Amino acid sequence: MGKIIALANQKGGVGKTTTAINLAASLATLEKAVLVVDADPQANASSGLGVDIQDIESSLYECLINQTDIKEAIYTTDIEGLDIVPSHIDLVGAEIEMLNFEQREKVISNMLAPVKDDYDYILIDCSPSLGLITVNSLTAANSVIIPVQCEYFALEGITKLLNTIKIIKSKLNPKLEIEGFLLTMYDSRLRLANQIYDEVKRHFQELVFNTVIQRNVKLSESPSHGLPAILYDADSTGAKNYLRLANEIIQKNQS
Ligand code: ADP
Ligand code: MG
Repeated sequence: MGKIIALANQKGGVGKTTTAINLAASLATLEKAVLVVDADPQANASSGLGVDIQDIESSLYECLINQTDIKEAIYTTDIEGLDIVPSHIDLVGAEIEMLNFEQREKVISNMLAPVKDDYDYILIDCSPSLGLITVNSLTAANSVIIPVQCEYFALEGITKLLNTIKIIKSKLNPKLEIEGFLLTMYDSRLRLANQIYDEVKRHFQELVFNTVIQRNVKLSESPSHGLPAILYDADSTGAKNYLRLANEIIQKNQS
């Protein structure tokens, strides 16, 4: 049965989208069937996986608002085994349009139900907000990965996110778990990075992934080519880090 994992942190620029793209590509490389759902109106995961967002007919927006069948909004990518439901800038207005919906927090959950078992992993790339679409994503998810950037105030705002997760767990999705905190943009030359790693580890202990994502320029270059790092430069540190993360997640979910 497919596992749905949301990538969430209401802080922008912490590596949610980079993780969605590259974790998905790594899981697919390890022969898992993977679907990325781009739930951010910025659509960076869509373009980063090579979808021409000007050219698509159906996106997450149509699925949410017009009840378009999700199968019409699933596109293949250059990576075998990796599909995507792209986003669209129209998604900005979707939260308002959804306000009157019955079960408005469960629209994504209901939308994914028919395809859940077609995939081993479904990764939802959330926007940097805790609005209705992110609430929908967390309600649909089995677990959440929280990327944390190795910088000052790394944990700022985490309490708010954890509180949101707690509320969703108690009211909407009792099975929601934290898959892990993922340290991103780690630079081992900086003492600060080590201090932040220690601090996150002290707070969240075994919930912190062993894998740390280093700062690597290939990870920031590859999206402009519409490719994950593993296709852009398979030998890069970024590609290797995300492959290691994929292995860690697969192992964790087997035991
Ligand atoms: P979010 O989705 O949380 O807003 P992104 O994944 O878009 O964050 O990352 C923000 C910026 O940082 C992007 O320009 C991305 O290319 C870059 N970036 C993310 N992770 C890394 C990394 N490990 N090394 C170098 N650049 C990174
Ligand atoms: Mg993003």
